Amino acid sequence: ILATRALKKAFGAHKVLDGVDISVPRGEVVGLLGPNGSGKSTMLNAISGFLKPDAGEVLLSGQPVTGLESHAIARKGLIRTFQLPSMPHRMTVRDVLTAGSRTGANLGSIFKRAQQESEIEDLLVTFKLDHVANQPASSLSGGQKKLLSIATALRAQPQVLCLDEPTAGVHPKLRNDIVDILTSINARGVTMVIVEHDMGFVRNLCKRCLVLDRGSIIADCPPEKLSEDSRVVEAYLGKAIER
Ligand code: ATP
Ligand code: MG
Repeated sequence: ILATRALKKAFGAHKVLDGVDISVPRGEVVGLLGPNGSGKSTMLNAISGFLKPDAGEVLLSGQPVTGLESHAIARKGLIRTFQLPSMPHRMTVRDVLTAGSRTGANLGSIFKRAQQESEIEDLLVTFKLDHVANQPASSLSGGQKKLLSIATALRAQPQVLCLDEPTAGVHPKLRNDIVDILTSINARGVTMVIVEHDMGFVRNLCKRCLVLDRGSIIADCPPEKLSEDSRVVEAYLGKAIER
């Protein structure tokens, strides 16, 4: 459902993506791993239309979406979250969640509105944001902003969900809850690309991992095989595999 072909992006002389090919079938949950600065966020930016690649192609459901604006790609069903989410100043947490729906502008029947309201209340509880629902979203802590950005992404009912470090700064208990939520969403057919440093989280969620290093994908294997790949161990895992 999502693929890149020879995707390239350089910042000055620094070739961050140097011909990256990935292919993610519908329904798969893929971990996108790699050292700090290896280009994982750049990759998500290029896929989701927040950054124009220098060369190569991005395909969504077989259709090229390369160079389209981010909102056009979002309308086609690809939703992404940010590593450091920024929140609007004048909206409350509940408002942000309400606005996150693709159907938000056109509520139709009273029944739909009630259904939407109960969905929002459920999400607020699930993501432990119910007690801050009426606060300005910009006043949340870093971890809470991350949670709100994931909840908002879910409201958009994506076909492909790309998450940039969803658990960084999130409490371990809640991290497990996020695994459960994403597992149930995947069971409904949502494809996911998850940038993540927490290997426990990756093992719980991803059947397949891609490792990005120095501009290209150096491994494409199940998480439990990563430690058998000497390039991956050398470039990325080091002693982390002991954890
Ligand atoms: P981390 O795990 O730390 O989040 P990452 O793999 O997500 O790292 P990126 O944010 O994609 O890494 O950055 C990859 C490289 O590209 C870095 O060296 C970064 O400095 C550089 N880079 C990213 N965005 C820009 C930009 N807008 N201008 C210049 N350089 C950039
Ligand atoms: Mg990053």
